[in-house]
Amino acid sequence: MGDRRETRDVVTFVVKRIDDRLVRTSLPGQNVTVRLRMPDGVLQPRQYNLTRADDGAHRQFSVKRVEGGDGRPPGEISTLLHDSVDVGDMLTLSLPYGNVVLDDSGRPAVFASAGIGITPVAGMLSHLAQVESRPPITMLDADLEEAVFPLRRQVVNDVVELPHAELYVWYENDAHGIEPVNGVFHGTMDLSVVDLPDNAIYYLCGPLPFMRALRGTLLTRGVVSDDIHYEVFGPDLWQADLE
Ligand SMILES: Cc1cc2nc3c(=O)[nH]c(=O)nc-3n(C[C@H](O)[C@H](O)[C@H](O)COP(=O)(O)OP(=O)(O)OC[C@H]3O[C@@H](n4cnc5c(N)ncnc54)[C@H](O)[C@@H]3O)c2cc1C
Repeated sequence: MGDRRETRDVVTFVVKRIDDRLVRTSLPGQNVTVRLRMPDGVLQPRQYNLTRADDGAHRQFSVKRVEGGDGRPPGEISTLLHDSVDVGDMLTLSLPYGNVVLDDSGRPAVFASAGIGITPVAGMLSHLAQVESRPPITMLDADLEEAVFPLRRQVVNDVVELPHAELYVWYENDAHGIEPVNGVFHGTMDLSVVDLPDNAIYYLCGPLPFMRALRGTLLTRGVVSDDIHYEVFGPDLWQADLE
C-alpha cells in the first residue's frame, strides 16, 4: 500500500501496483473487492468504490469505520482496515467492476451524496477534472459538519478545477465551513434551494432514506427514472426502478 490518509472515521487508502500484470482501467464510479484474511484465517471480501480517476498505477478507496453498538459487533473488515493496515502492507484487490458509471455523452451531471456515499461520486468528479470536462456539473453533499465530510479536500479541488462546476453542502450540526463552496446550508439536503441544470443525469449515493427522498423529489419535478442512477452499499433491496 502506497499511502493512507485519515479523517475522524474514514481512512483513504492509496494502493500501488507491485506487479506487471495487465489490469483493467477502471470506469468512473466503479468499485473493487478487497479481500482480507481475518485473525481466524477466513478470507473476507468487501466492496469499496474507487475514489480517484484511473492513473494506471494506483487504486484509491475510502473506508468508513463501522462502529458496533445496540448489540451489533463492530464491522469486521472496516475495523481491520482502520486498525491493522498501513503503508507498506500488501492488499489483494479485484479488477474494477460495477454498472453505476459516469455517462460520457456530455450531458450535465448532478451528484448528490451523503456521508460515505461521497465515494463513487468523488471517483466520477475526479475523472471529470482529469479530462477537463466542460458541461455543467452540480455537486451536492450532506454531512454532519465540514470536519467529517469525507474526501472534502479532493472534492473541493476538483470542483474548483472544473470550469462549470458548483458545490453546495448541507451540514446538520452547523452551517459553517472554510472551504470555497457555492452554498452552505444548515440541515438536510433540500433541492428547492439550488438551481439544477436542465437535461441533467443524476447520480445518488448515501443511506436508502436519503436516496428515496431525493429520487421522489426528482421524479415529481419530471426527471425520468432512467436519468437517476444510484449506488447502494449492500444488496440492492430497494430496486427503485421496480417500484
Ligand atoms: C457496491 C458497494 C460499494 C461500497 N463502497 C463502499 C465505500 O466506498 N466505502 C465504504 O466505507 N463502504 C463501502 N461499501 C460497504 C462495504 O463493502 C462494507 O459493507 C462495509 O465496509 C462494512 O464491512 P465490515 O466488514 O466492516 O462490516 P460487517 O462485519 O460486514 O458488518 C456489517 C454490519 O452488520 C452488523 N453485524 C455483523 N454481525 C452481526 C450480528 N451477528 N448481529 C447483528 N449485527 C451484525 C455489524 O454490526 C455491521 O453494522 C460498499 C458496498 C457495496 C456493496
